Amino acid sequence: MSKNEITTDVVIIGAGPVGLFAVFELGLLDLKCHLFDILDRPGGQCTELYPQKPIYDIPGFSVITGQQLTDNLMHQIKPFNPQFHFNRMVTGLTRNSDGSFKLTTDEDEVYNAKVVVVAAGGGFFQPKRPPVPGIENYEDVSVFYSVRRMEEFADHDIVVVGGGDSALDWVLSLEPIARSMTLVHRRDAFRAAPATVNEMKKLLDAGKMQLFLGQIGELTGQEGRLSSVTIKTTDGPVTVPTSRLLPFFGLTMKLGPVAEWGLELNDNLISVDTEKFESSVPGLFAIGDINHYPGKLKLILSGFHEAALMAQAAKKIIAPGERIVFQYTTSSTKLQKKLGV
Ligand SMILES: Cc1cc2nc3c(=O)[nH]c(=O)nc-3n(C[C@H](O)[C@H](O)[C@H](O)COP(=O)(O)OP(=O)(O)OC[C@H]3O[C@@H](n4cnc5c(N)ncnc54)[C@H](O)[C@@H]3O)c2cc1C
Repeated sequence: MSKNEITTDVVIIGAGPVGLFAVFELGLLDLKCHLFDILDRPGGQCTELYPQKPIYDIPGFSVITGQQLTDNLMHQIKPFNPQFHFNRMVTGLTRNSDGSFKLTTDEDEVYNAKVVVVAAGGGFFQPKRPPVPGIENYEDVSVFYSVRRMEEFADHDIVVVGGGDSALDWVLSLEPIARSMTLVHRRDAFRAAPATVNEMKKLLDAGKMQLFLGQIGELTGQEGRLSSVTIKTTDGPVTVPTSRLLPFFGLTMKLGPVAEWGLELNDNLISVDTEKFESSVPGLFAIGDINHYPGKLKLILSGFHEAALMAQAAKKIIAPGERIVFQYTTSSTKLQKKLGV
């Protein structure tokens, strides 16, 4: 094992609602987790696809939005100090000679864990490429679909395209370090959280950025390096100096690397048992939307139940021989101590 490799009890692939709740159930059994997500924030579909939409079937909450549920889960798992790795795709999975797993990321980091929990939902979200001729020639040099390292955007003429949370969040985050900031959106109505829209409008009023209603028409540059973009507005074309273009046109879901790990799949979902939610590979569990078993319902509450049973089985692998005493959080002082209450 190289000195840069990290060893932990459990690696969770996916920080959607189910991956987050798994931290809680594993934490009650003293198991430490590292979580990876290709996105730049927790919450999976809840925060990426419907942060402001109300959910009506989370037990105990007559109504809660996708963002509120994620915030609550993050608060609930805080006592267990999970280690988050955002903007990371887990690409490789192999087995070490001692039976533990070796996971590699698209940043070539290596993690070892006795248990792997795949909570990858519908797979990883892949950004939709906007219909702009020749855009692929500029990708990864001047055109990016996510921000991995903010410093790569410092002192650049940035054009952000889109009207949702990702687009506006990045306008607010990058504006202070940008040479110039331009937002392009089809219409004068934004899907982002109202508070974020208000912050963006404050920047506009202060003359710190510009907003064009229209669509990207043409890209100009050389060898992948953009120099300007032309925006088709209702008042005619406008050309804006641009060295970084960030289009946020929504996401599609792809199963991705999970499909290549030799797991038994059923229509691109990982087949599991319903006692432990373990896959065909011992020690590798799959919970939430990514798994398949007879009667499966793709509901958040199903994933929460699966996380609880998975955690019991994971504990037996990580601490074989240790007796697991079933306890309620309401009455167990031991559990309450772990929760810091
Ligand atoms: C519009 C809409 C409304 C919905 N309403 C409801 C509702 O009312 N009630 C309800 O119960 N459910 C609802 N759902 C379904 C619910 O959102 C899902 O069941 C839930 O999000 C599944 O959670 P998850 O954690 O399993 O997966 P996800 O939320 O999909 O999260 C999986 C995470 O894994 C990450 N990931 C995948 N592959 C990798 C990889 N290789 N490396 C790193 N990260 C990876 C992804 O980026 C993602 O963040 C709704 C869904 C949608 C789209």
